Amino acid sequence: MINLPKQILINGKFSNGQGNPETIINPATGEVITTIAEASLEQVQQAVSAAAAAFPAWKKTTPRDRATMLLQLADAIEANAENFAQLESLNCGKPYLAALNDEMPAVADVFRFFAGAIRNMTGSLAGEYLPGFTSMIRRDPLGVIASIAPWNYPLMMAAWKLGPALAAGNTVVLKPSEQTPLSTLKLAELLANIFPDGVVNIIAGRGQTVGATLISHPEVQMISITGAVSTGQKVMEAATGSLKRTHLELGGKAPVIVFDDADLEEVVAGVRGFGYYNAGQDCTAACRIYAGKKIYEKLVADLSSAVGSIQIGEQNDEGVEMGPLITESHLNRVSGFVDRASQLKHMEITTGGKVDDRRGYFFQPTVIAGALQSDEIVRKEVFGPVVSITRFDDVDTAVSWANDSDYGLASSVWTKDISKGMQAASQLQYGCTWINTHFMLVSEMPHGGMKKSGYGKDMSMYAIEDYSCVRHVMVKL
Ligand code: NAD
Repeated sequence: MINLPKQILINGKFSNGQGNPETIINPATGEVITTIAEASLEQVQQAVSAAAAAFPAWKKTTPRDRATMLLQLADAIEANAENFAQLESLNCGKPYLAALNDEMPAVADVFRFFAGAIRNMTGSLAGEYLPGFTSMIRRDPLGVIASIAPWNYPLMMAAWKLGPALAAGNTVVLKPSEQTPLSTLKLAELLANIFPDGVVNIIAGRGQTVGATLISHPEVQMISITGAVSTGQKVMEAATGSLKRTHLELGGKAPVIVFDDADLEEVVAGVRGFGYYNAGQDCTAACRIYAGKKIYEKLVADLSSAVGSIQIGEQNDEGVEMGPLITESHLNRVSGFVDRASQLKHMEITTGGKVDDRRGYFFQPTVIAGALQSDEIVRKEVFGPVVSITRFDDVDTAVSWANDSDYGLASSVWTKDISKGMQAASQLQYGCTWINTHFMLVSEMPHGGMKKSGYGKDMSMYAIEDYSCVRHVMVKL
C-alpha cells in the first residue's frame, strides 16, 4: 500500500487544506484513491506572503548555492523514483513502467540541467558605450511566481516550472491540478528538506477557487500556467490589473507531414509511439497526419494495424502500453469527437473508435482515415488516443494545411530528402519541428508555442530568461 501525501506546504510547514475536499480518482478503475482538502483562500494568501517574505534572502543566494539545492532535489527524486512513479501512475492511470522509466529520469534531469545552466549564463559585454560611463547587463529574478500545472504530467510540469524559477532566484507558489495533486504533494516533502522556508510553497485546489485567487494576488509578479487555451485567457485577464508577466503553455494539435519518400516503417513505429503515449493526452501528440498521395493507402493500412496492437490496461498489467483517459467527462469528450467523425461518410475509422468495455475511463486507440482539412477532428484538440489522416497532393498544400491551425506548438516532417525536410521546417509556424521523429524533448532545448498554444519557453536557457529580467546598470567613471 502506498503512503499517500495529503498535506500542503506553506512557509516550510505542512498542514491540511482548510477548504473544500476534492475526491482523487484512479482513472483506471474509477475508484476513489483519497480526498485532499484544497487550500482555503486564507492559506493561498499565507503561501504568497511566505514566498514574498522569503524572496529577498533567496535572491541573494549565489548560483552555486541554488544549483547545489537543485542537484540535491534531483538526487532525492531519483532515490524516491519508484514511489513517485507509483503515485503518478495511480493518480493519472499511466502504465507504471512508463512513469518510472520514461518520466522520472526526465524529471530529475530537468533539475540537473537548471543547476548547471544557472552557473553558465552569458550575455552582452560590459563596456563604455558612452565615453566616461561603463554599462553592464544584469539578469535578476522577478519575485514571487505563481505556477499552475495540468494533470497530464503532474511531476514533469512541476519540474519544468520550479527548475528555471528557482534557479533564477525567484520564490514560487505552485498549484498542481486538482485532479492529480499526489506526486506534487510528495515532492513538497523533498522540497521542505532542501530549500529554505517559504522559497517553495505547494498548495492544492481547484482552478476557479485556489488558482484564481493565486493568480490575481497583487504580490505575485509572474504567472506561469500550463493548461487549456481558455485557462490561458483567464490568466491574461487576471494579469492585466497589475501587469504581471505571463508564461502560457497551452494546447496543441501537432501536424505530422509524411512525404511520399518517407521511411514508412519509421513513420508507423513513430506515430504508434508518439501519437498514443499517455493515451494521447499530450499537447505535442502526433495526432494530425498529412500523408502524400503515393503512400497514403499503405500508411493507413500499416498504421491501423500497428495501432490496433497497442495493449491497453491498468497501471501494473503486464505489457501494458496505454492507460485510460483522466476522467469520465474527458472520456465522453473524446468519444464525442469520434462519434461525430464517424457520422461523416468521407471518413473511416480504421481501428478503435469506441469506449473500451472495461472499468475505468479507457478509449480504444483510434485511427481515422479520409479526414479533410475542414473536419472538426483535424481542427480541434482532442487530447486523446485519436489520430486523423488526411491525403495531400503537393508539398505546398501539406505545409499550408499544417499551418492552417489555431495552434502552434509542435510539428514533424518525415522524408528521406533532408533538404525537403529543412525547407518544410523553415515554413512551419510551430515552436518545434522534428524531422524524421516527433515528441522528443531534451532539457537543453526549448519547448513552447506560437498562436493559441501560448508563449514562453519551458526548459533550456530560454526558460531562465523568461523567469528573469534583464537590467542595465551604468556607472559614471
Ligand atoms: P486546465 O486549463 O483545465 O487546467 C490547468 C490548470 O489550470 C489546473 O491546475 C487548473 O486547476 C488550473 N485552472 C483552471 N482554471 C483556472 C483559473 N480560472 N485560474 C487559475 N487556474 C486555473 O487544463 P487541463 O485540463 O488540466 O490540461 C489539459 C490542457 O493543458 C490541454 O489543453 C493541453 O493541451 C494543455 N497542455 C499544454 C502543455 C504545453 O506544454 N503547451 C502541456 C500539457 C498540457
